[in-house]
Amino acid sequence: MRVKAQLSMVLNLDKCIGCHTCSVTCKNVWTKRDGLEYAWFNNVETKPGIGYPKGWENQSQYKGGWKLENNKLKLNLGSRSSILLNIFANPYMPKLNDYYEPFEFDYEYLKLSKDEYFPSLKPISSITKKEMEIQWGPNWEDDLSGEFEKRSQDYNFQNLQKEIYAEFENTFMMYLPRLCNHCLNPACVASCPSGAIYKRDEDGIVLIDQNKCRGWRMCISACPYKKIYYNYKSGKSEKCILCYPRLEVGKPTVCSESCVGKIRYIGVLLYDEEKIEEIAKTQNKEELYEAQMSIFLNPFDEAVIKQAQIDGIPQNFIEAAQNSPVYKMVVEWKIAFGLHPEFRTLPMNFYIPPLSPIINKPELFSDDSVFGSIEDLSLPVDYLANMFCASNREPIIMALKKLLALRSFNRQKNVEGIVSDNVLKAVGLTIEQAEKMYNLLAIAKYEDRFCIPTAHRELDENNFKGQGLTGFLKNDFGG
Ligand code: SF4
Ligand code: SF4
Repeated sequence: MRVKAQLSMVLNLDKCIGCHTCSVTCKNVWTKRDGLEYAWFNNVETKPGIGYPKGWENQSQYKGGWKLENNKLKLNLGSRSSILLNIFANPYMPKLNDYYEPFEFDYEYLKLSKDEYFPSLKPISSITKKEMEIQWGPNWEDDLSGEFEKRSQDYNFQNLQKEIYAEFENTFMMYLPRLCNHCLNPACVASCPSGAIYKRDEDGIVLIDQNKCRGWRMCISACPYKKIYYNYKSGKSEKCILCYPRLEVGKPTVCSESCVGKIRYIGVLLYDEEKIEEIAKTQNKEELYEAQMSIFLNPFDEAVIKQAQIDGIPQNFIEAAQNSPVYKMVVEWKIAFGLHPEFRTLPMNFYIPPLSPIINKPELFSDDSVFGSIEDLSLPVDYLANMFCASNREPIIMALKKLLALRSFNRQKNVEGIVSDNVLKAVGLTIEQAEKMYNLLAIAKYEDRFCIPTAHRELDENNFKGQGLTGFLKNDFGG
C-alpha cells in the first residue's frame, strides 16, 4: 500500500440551477485572455445534448481515454509511434467549430449610434474581427433549446428507446457542470510527447508545465472529457488548475466559491496508489465503479494513518480526509459517481445524480411506493447509468433510493411529526446517518462544504515528481 492524498470535488446535481455563474467566474479569472476566448475550463451543459465541444463523449470520433487490449491498457489515441506519425496533423482533434467561433459585441455602438431606430448589436468574431452568425457555443443547448434530432445524438441514449423522449410529456433535462476531473489515471499525461503534463504529488492536481509544452495537442484528443484547450496565441495547451493558488491557502475553487446553488463540495480522499493500474484494467466496464471505490482508504483506520505518515502525507491532510465531505458522499454513503468510468481515467470529480419529477405517482411519499417510483422518475435510470456507471444500473438505483428515502424521512418528520426509520432501513441507513446526510446535502455551512488543508511549501521539492508517474503511468515518451 502506498498512500496518496487527492483534493476532490462533489457536485450535487439535484441542486444545480444551470445559472452558469461558475463558468463565468472561472472565465473571468482564468481564460479571459487572447488565444483562449473559446475556452471554458468550467462549462455547464444541458443534458440530453451533445455538449461542448460537440459530441465530446463519443470516443470513436476523438479517441480519448484508454482501452483494454489483451489485458493491457492502451491509449485510444494509439501507440507512441502512431502518435508521433500524427504529430503535425492529428485527425482526432476537435475543430474550432466543434467548440464555437468566439465572438464579442461592440457595446460602444449602443451609446454612440445615431441610427433612427433603436440600435441592435451584431456579434463580431474574435478571430476574424468581422460580423458573423453564431452557430454553436458552450451553452448552445441550454434548457433544451434546439430540435430533438440533434439532442438525440447524446451518447448517453445508447440502449434507450430515445424516440419516446422527443414527445413533450416524456421530455426530461438536467444540468451537468463540467471541469477537468484531475484523474488518477490521466490519459492526457500519458499522451504528451513533451512530458509537460504531470499530476502534483501533494494533492493530485493535474497541471501543464507551460515551459515544457510544445503545443503538439495530443492531450486534447487523449482527454476523453475534452478539458484541455489550445491557446492559439501562446501556442501552448492549457487546462483547469483547480484554482491551486486558492486551495493552497485553504480557500475553495472560484467555481465552488461562487456557486449559486451551493452544489459543490471539496475535500481530501486518501487512496492506494499501487492499485491504480489493477483498477483501471478491470475487465468488465460495468464493474469499474465498484473497482474505483475499492482504491479509497478509510482515513480513520489506524493502519492507513500509520502508512500515510510513512508515505509523507502531512497531518493536516490526514485530518482533512477524516472530515472530508467528499469521503462521506462518495465512499461512505455511495451517492456520488465519477463521469463515464468506462473511459478508464479514474476521474476524481463526483456527481450526485439528480432526482426528477415522478410521472403519474402522486402517492410518492407513502412508505410502500417510495422505491417503486424509481422507474417512474422522469429522468430515466438507464440514462444516468450510461453517464455515471458505464451502464450499470444497480449503484445508481441504490443512490436514488437513498435520496428518495431521505426525502420521505424528512417529510414524515416535518409534516407528520413522526420520526421513523421504516424507509431508511430498506436502504441500510440509520436515523443518525440520515440526519448527517440532510445536514450536508441541504443546509451545510461553508466550512462543512469545503474542508481544504493548507499546502506545505516545505515539501515543494516533491511537486514535480508527480503522483502515479511510475511504472505504466510514466508516459510513453519518458515524461
Ligand atoms: S479530465 Fe483527466 S484526462 Fe482530461 S485533462 Fe483532466 S486529468 Fe487529464
Ligand atoms: S454556479 Fe452552481 S448552480 Fe449555477 S450552474 Fe454552476 S454549478 Fe450550477
